[in-house]
Amino acid sequence: MFHVEHSGQRFDVIVIGGGHAGAEAALAAARLNVRVMLATHRFDRIGEMSCNPAIGGLGKGHLVREIDAFDGIMGRAADAAGIQFRLLNRRKGPAVRGPRAQCDRRLYRAAMQSAVRTAPITIREGEVAELLFDAGAVAGVVMADGTRVEADAVIVTTGTFLRGVIHIGGETRAGGRMGDDSATRLAACFDELSLPLGRLKTGTPPRFDGRTIRWDLLEQQPGDDDPSLFSFMSAQPMARQITCGIAHTNEKTHDIIRENLGQSAMYSGQISGTGPRYCPSIEDKVSRFSDKSSHQIFLEPEGLDDDTIYPNGISTSLPVDVQEAYVASIKGLENARITQPGYAIEYDYVDPRSLDYQLQVKSCPGLFLAGQINGTTGYEEAAAQGLVAGLAAARLASGHGDIRFDRTESYIGVMIDDLISRGVTEPYRMFTSRAEYRLHLRADNADRRLTPKAIEIGCVGEGRKRHFGEMLERLETADTLLSGLSVTPQEATAHGIRINQDGVRRDAKTLLGQFGQDYNALATIWPEVASLDPSAVVQLANDALYKGYLDRQMAEMSAMRQDADVIIPPDISYATLPGLSNELIDKLMRLQPRTIADAGRVEGMTPAAIALLHAHAKKSVLAG
Ligand code: FAD
Repeated sequence: MFHVEHSGQRFDVIVIGGGHAGAEAALAAARLNVRVMLATHRFDRIGEMSCNPAIGGLGKGHLVREIDAFDGIMGRAADAAGIQFRLLNRRKGPAVRGPRAQCDRRLYRAAMQSAVRTAPITIREGEVAELLFDAGAVAGVVMADGTRVEADAVIVTTGTFLRGVIHIGGETRAGGRMGDDSATRLAACFDELSLPLGRLKTGTPPRFDGRTIRWDLLEQQPGDDDPSLFSFMSAQPMARQITCGIAHTNEKTHDIIRENLGQSAMYSGQISGTGPRYCPSIEDKVSRFSDKSSHQIFLEPEGLDDDTIYPNGISTSLPVDVQEAYVASIKGLENARITQPGYAIEYDYVDPRSLDYQLQVKSCPGLFLAGQINGTTGYEEAAAQGLVAGLAAARLASGHGDIRFDRTESYIGVMIDDLISRGVTEPYRMFTSRAEYRLHLRADNADRRLTPKAIEIGCVGEGRKRHFGEMLERLETADTLLSGLSVTPQEATAHGIRINQDGVRRDAKTLLGQFGQDYNALATIWPEVASLDPSAVVQLANDALYKGYLDRQMAEMSAMRQDADVIIPPDISYATLPGLSNELIDKLMRLQPRTIADAGRVEGMTPAAIALLHAHAKKSVLAG
């Protein structure tokens, strides 16, 4: 570990790594007008998607919209590169719908690289070998060529590169991902800092030459007719839209995999790290769900001018000849040529409980960690952490106060709180079920929830500010008009609209909750509704749908915020409180949370249970 000698090269913030976390961190810091250096192995790999060429999905799509609300880049890059947009969970309530886009890899990289190139960021290609320290705080970096560069804050976003090892069957080699070296020297630096490290793994499927697939034998999956884009600034997809194919594994495929399980790096005991349970390899699927005779494979083109196909659903670490054999057993893939074999990668991560709520290492001021290095998986999780660390590091360097993301206001807050208070036991990915206040934390209202905060801290450009202001005006126009229109059940029936015949007059906003996306029905009573901005009406419809729950949740949220520090009586008997599940009682007894805020962070805690504890703790405070 080097200690600082003044080198002459100085920045406010240095970001190590140009992946999803690194690019978003550097851009966020630059938006706060500090001097930023981005050090990464290769500029042309900025925006690289190491695995599937897709952004968003359940829970993840919410994160992308939240990043966008802070003027981050991920949503706009995905909109520029999206070749198939689908809103997942469309049949479920609007709170849990997840926008997803399959992207053209090259277009995505181009959008990210153009954003980084045109921002006031100094780019330095090369490996960072060491961190510099001064009086216990981080003070800069040393590049592999020996150059020292000083900074007030350093953000490490090295993904799977810390002691990364790639496994294909019995073969192993060091690497951060296919085609890139691992970062072994930097990993040694972390050892010296005595940060708690763990080992995780993840995998990727083989890639095919699309010209060798029999598309005519496969089911087709088109995108949505009305694409849901990510950025609040985007109007429509920019790239040509395509259709994907769906193939299915069969008994023969499963037999081949079962017979060769012993040769899989994941199954032979060769890999010690824990993998993502919810994103299982095909070996996992065949062994864990042995009653299933078939699994779906989505065949996703990696780009418009690229014949490479990504088969979503069959990540593997079996030897190449076994991959070839099981692929050939699948209808439509009999002659599919593998252009890159599937592989597993094992890497070091830092226990995120060693970080504070700004993702700053508690024991080392100025050192921030973001992305997969913190035990998460996924581009969106990485980018969201990059945003937080970028803003926090820039504020530290420019003498501003801390920035905090609360779990009641954003999925970003949920993720950070989960990571720093619970740590990870497997690669962490976002799900809507992780958010207690998910009816409030919707993808459609991410800008209303977060852009005011983003404007306050100064990380939003003029274009977005104007766009946001105009959206609020349209929302207000719609709200005022709809609140002023009302109808009796009889009048509604006369217009062919069926509502409860209870004699109660309802305003148009209340009716919106009932009609949701089909609000055009209301225009049969009030033609002026048709002239309102559709996206404003949809947002009001979503608000109206959840109004009752939302009012209750808002009251709970504000009580929680006010009373977060209320002490839970140490002699509390959880087992005697009515309405707590046995699982929660066990966890609370084991973890003994000190305050209501600590209790709120216990895994599986529900809003109802926290309200109960809150009431009990307040009663004890009043009594005592
Ligand atoms: P990365 O995107 O890995 O970027 C790290 C960056 O750091 C790179 O630019 C690298 O060049 C740079 N770097 C590293 N060390 C140094 C150094 N010493 N000096 C300078 N630069 C350095 N996610 C999913 O959601 N689903 C999946 O199915 C999935 N499968 C995956 C399969 C594989 C094989 C891999 C590798 C990843 C997979 N992921 C998956 C994870 C996803 O790719 C990552 O979570 C995401 O890319 C992490 O972003 P990041 O910015 O943290 O790191």
